[in-house]
Amino acid sequence: MATYFMTRVSCRRIAALLLAALALISSRATSASGPPPPPPPPPPAVTAVVYAGHLIDGVSNSVRSNVTIVIEGDRIREVRDGRASVPGAEVVDLSEFTVLPGLIDCHTHVTMQIGRDQLLNSLIHRNADLALTASVYARRTLLAGFTTIRDLGSSGFVDISLRDAINSGTISGPRMFAATRLIGIIGGHGDTGGIREDLLPDPDYRSGIITGPEDGARAVRYAVKYGADVIKIAATGGVLSLADSGSGQQLTLAEMKAIVDAAHLLDRKVAAHAHGAAGIKDALRAGVSSIEHGSYLDDEAISLFKQHGAYLVPTIIAGKTVENAAKIPGFFPPAIQAKAATIGPLIQNAFARAYKGGVKIAFGTDAGVYPHGQNAKEFEYMVEAGMPPMEAILAATRSAADLLDQSANVGSVQRGRYADLIAVRGDPVTDIKLLQNVSFVMKAGRIYKRDGKPVLH
Ligand SMILES: [Zn+2]
Repeated sequence: MATYFMTRVSCRRIAALLLAALALISSRATSASGPPPPPPPPPPAVTAVVYAGHLIDGVSNSVRSNVTIVIEGDRIREVRDGRASVPGAEVVDLSEFTVLPGLIDCHTHVTMQIGRDQLLNSLIHRNADLALTASVYARRTLLAGFTTIRDLGSSGFVDISLRDAINSGTISGPRMFAATRLIGIIGGHGDTGGIREDLLPDPDYRSGIITGPEDGARAVRYAVKYGADVIKIAATGGVLSLADSGSGQQLTLAEMKAIVDAAHLLDRKVAAHAHGAAGIKDALRAGVSSIEHGSYLDDEAISLFKQHGAYLVPTIIAGKTVENAAKIPGFFPPAIQAKAATIGPLIQNAFARAYKGGVKIAFGTDAGVYPHGQNAKEFEYMVEAGMPPMEAILAATRSAADLLDQSANVGSVQRGRYADLIAVRGDPVTDIKLLQNVSFVMKAGRIYKRDGKPVLH
């Protein structure tokens, strides 16, 4: 009762104050001299300075030493040589560490985690279940040093809700660029196979299942309407789908062209899942921006990559993971087991061949096929396949940012970019495995991990 009374009183007081303020504003607005000019904005405050013992800046190929990164709010204001002090700013001393831009994974599924009984789980788990586990996986990904992800395929728009919850600060996770549903054919990678036909409704463009170019355009517009930042297509079959060959082409060239055209009109890029060479090549001819996996790529595909300026997103770790899982009896149903054992081992060699052939590489892992948070193991596999460590790092910073059209915001430590920084002890250029053990994570000026321990928000 007392609380109710006090609330009434304070409401009245606030209302009276508001009326007085409005009266003041209207009297000023109607006075002959006009409204006074707005006061100049206060000078922006430097919020933090980071002392980096060494810096890999995501721009150059060399490692800088003894650098100060000046941070203003969520962005980098300045990168200076030496140790500069700024009064009033929080000091983050990483002088014992190598600092890098926050890493970017161009191929994740943060709303999924592949395991046994995949088909059964897809029938049991509600979108709310997916969202709750996704919030854990997103945080794990961020704490592993990945401050930006391109999430390539989710159901029920869980990815969009997750992205928005992260952007609003409700939960901790990487900044996300999300694809919503994968677009593919009836019975193909992305359709749910292996279920009695009378138990599930026939899917349509709203579930990403299309027939014909017009339907492809419809699926793109529908995905963008509900929040897609990027479009993902299945140019070929997939390892983890039940009812296809895994590598055979699925979408026609005409369908892929229509999808790419519709996406470009809406300012979205297209990423193509593709294993077999025919599907890889038609996807490149259709104008996709990246090929995911690329397992059976050949010389003609390599020249098409270069001709179109498209990236390969390798996902070697996913290939290794399914190859190993195929050796565990009963882990996959027989149809998937056979594909996993055949296609999995090809991916690392495909990457090596593409890299040597001069194809642009953007870092991506297919997180969700392997446990979330182990994304940085991909670096080790890239280096093992012949890519120098610095180039592997640039694939996850400069090149990944370029593929995402986000070079002005992420992927480098320079003026104007988000203050997305990670740090490791030692020199990752001589030991790339160090990236699997990130000590410090900052995203948009906020620290999420310090001294190897998560910081609670
Ligand atoms: Zn994938």
